[in-house]
Amino acid sequence: MMSKTKKKWFVAAGSVATFLALAVYELSFGRLFPFSPVVMGFSREEHGNYVVYHHGQPELPQLSYLSDVVTLEEQYHGMSFGSKPEIFFCKSDSEFRRLSGGKARFIAMNGRVFVSKRAQEDARQGRIDLRTYLTHEMSHGLLQQHMSSLRFAQMPRWLVEGVAMDCAGQVGIGIYPAKSDVYQAVAQGIFCEPVDYGTLFSGEKGTAISCPLTNKTAFFYSQFGCMVEFLRSSYGTQRFQAFLMDVVKNQSLSVEGSFMTVFGKSLADEVARFKNETKKPATPTR
Ligand SMILES: [Zn+2]
Repeated sequence: MMSKTKKKWFVAAGSVATFLALAVYELSFGRLFPFSPVVMGFSREEHGNYVVYHHGQPELPQLSYLSDVVTLEEQYHGMSFGSKPEIFFCKSDSEFRRLSGGKARFIAMNGRVFVSKRAQEDARQGRIDLRTYLTHEMSHGLLQQHMSSLRFAQMPRWLVEGVAMDCAGQVGIGIYPAKSDVYQAVAQGIFCEPVDYGTLFSGEKGTAISCPLTNKTAFFYSQFGCMVEFLRSSYGTQRFQAFLMDVVKNQSLSVEGSFMTVFGKSLADEVARFKNETKKPATPTR
């Protein structure tokens, strides 16, 4: 018969083994996949400055532009990828959901970009421009490579999405309203206060919820893209990149603090200046 202590050890060892087996499963095939150092179930194609994981989809030979996208990302953000960005072309939406946990067309996690079957289908049918969307997602991927996942989840979404929209030149493309439309709406009082757009953790509040537009997410993305473009053109590329670097590196993850440090202004001041800009006549259109 087993002694009591021996039994306890046996149960504990069993629990640890079960936990480890689950962790290995989740890393290999499930929700922890974006964090797994080992990739299974995909063919791997390594290029000069990026890696594609795929199932032999027909558009793969057309993806050589990704090399230029990587260069553009590094130039725009003023920071380099720590490791080659990895793009995963899923074979089904269930595979995409299983690995990313999301239902979106694309998701960037832990510096890896996942492309759903739906996104590939939409691109084939001409409903979306794959290159533009991948440029957007790779902006998230680049920032993620410079911070922990926890820290990225605490980043203000207005800045994360605004930077990606501006970097990808996505304002005015597809469902996203053009700069002139955004300026007109903001001048008329339709505006999502950046702090109301929250973080991945905190969710939306205030003006993000009360906005009367039907496709408000698309409007917010364009609005934040316009705000980032406004900052970048007001202060110049180098100051803007210094601001991004400060946001990524500062210990407190305080965008307000980074505004003060780099621009010498508060976020509230810059928001007021942006709103004022939209009221000026003859706003340039893109
Ligand atoms: Zn995004």
